[in-house]
Amino acid sequence: MGIVFEGISKIFPDGTAALHGLDLEFETGEFIVLLGPSGSGKTTACRVLAGLEDPTGGRILVDGRDVTQLPPRLRGIGMVFQNYALYSHKTVYENIAYPLRVRKVGRDEIERSVKAMADLLQIGRYLHRKPGQLSGGQAQRVAVARALVWQPDICLMDEPLSNLDALLRLHMRTELKRLHRELRKTFVFVTHDQEEAMTLATRVAVLRDGKLVQFDTPQTVYRKPATRFVAEFMGRPAMNTFDGTASAGVFTAAGFACPAPGFSDGPMTLGIRPEQIEIVDGSAPDAIAFEVDVVELVEPDILIFARRGKNAIIVRAGGDRHYDHGALLHLRFPPAALHGFDASTGQRLP
Ligand code: ADP
Ligand code: MG
Repeated sequence: MGIVFEGISKIFPDGTAALHGLDLEFETGEFIVLLGPSGSGKTTACRVLAGLEDPTGGRILVDGRDVTQLPPRLRGIGMVFQNYALYSHKTVYENIAYPLRVRKVGRDEIERSVKAMADLLQIGRYLHRKPGQLSGGQAQRVAVARALVWQPDICLMDEPLSNLDALLRLHMRTELKRLHRELRKTFVFVTHDQEEAMTLATRVAVLRDGKLVQFDTPQTVYRKPATRFVAEFMGRPAMNTFDGTASAGVFTAAGFACPAPGFSDGPMTLGIRPEQIEIVDGSAPDAIAFEVDVVELVEPDILIFARRGKNAIIVRAGGDRHYDHGALLHLRFPPAALHGFDASTGQRLP
């Protein structure tokens, strides 16, 4: 049960293939995040789920029922888009009440529902205002309230926080999480921001070129990325990757070698996250010397950009040590922290 994308394809009339046989299945009540770079098909997937776009192949099932041919208004989906448009001539109250009026809900119940939703989103004080008298964050909350006030089973949000400044994004993110907990509805949230995906999702669906590349909990997507693409997309700064060859438990790239037990012999891509690299003494076994290039302070951590020949690496370090430009930095890659990817397909190696 729940929501199923079954082999959903979408080829637009101009020949652009936006989705290629997308299979995705999740439970009701989840907070699903569709994550991917621009153009990966996130909006198209949303619009197909909402019924705003007909798929050219496949079916959408909601609780076992095929809704592929069902018009949008019968799908029980509330929507918030990046460029949410509030009715500028209506008050905040009337904006939120609108979906209820359309559904011929009684006056008292409208009042009760609008007030409850406004309280939940902390916009109760602005109900008499017009949208033009709100800040960006307040207007965004009104859009969310309007999408949810009629208690849709599914709340679909396509990059709803993109137009907000950084601090407000963080704040709204927390609010959405609380809202999800309190309403117990299914949330489908689209973003290209991996941090938003990590913090919000019960499960993250990573899309690339209209295909699903991984669908799992944020923790698993981060710790066991299915492909090199996912590895580099999840986590900032991105995972370090090196092309080279494994042989008898040792990985050799142009310019350095390190123990890499467990990988079969042959060409491969080795990956390690910046925070998992150890800074050691030059005398330590398996220490690899890099030269410090740029140092960035991201309190309480430090990001060290270093080089060794053609290899560039980013290390996330803690503490108060000072790193000078040009100084030697001795690094160790703990074998347990290593990721391996197929040199040609980018698929994760077991
Ligand atoms: P995302 O939301 O991940 O940025 P979209 O779903 O908007 O991606 O777009 C996926 C692909 O489909 C892109 O290549 C985009 O240019 C194309 N696309 C989207 N809408 C249309 C359309 N109406 N006609 C033709 N191509 C489209
Ligand atoms: Mg989009």
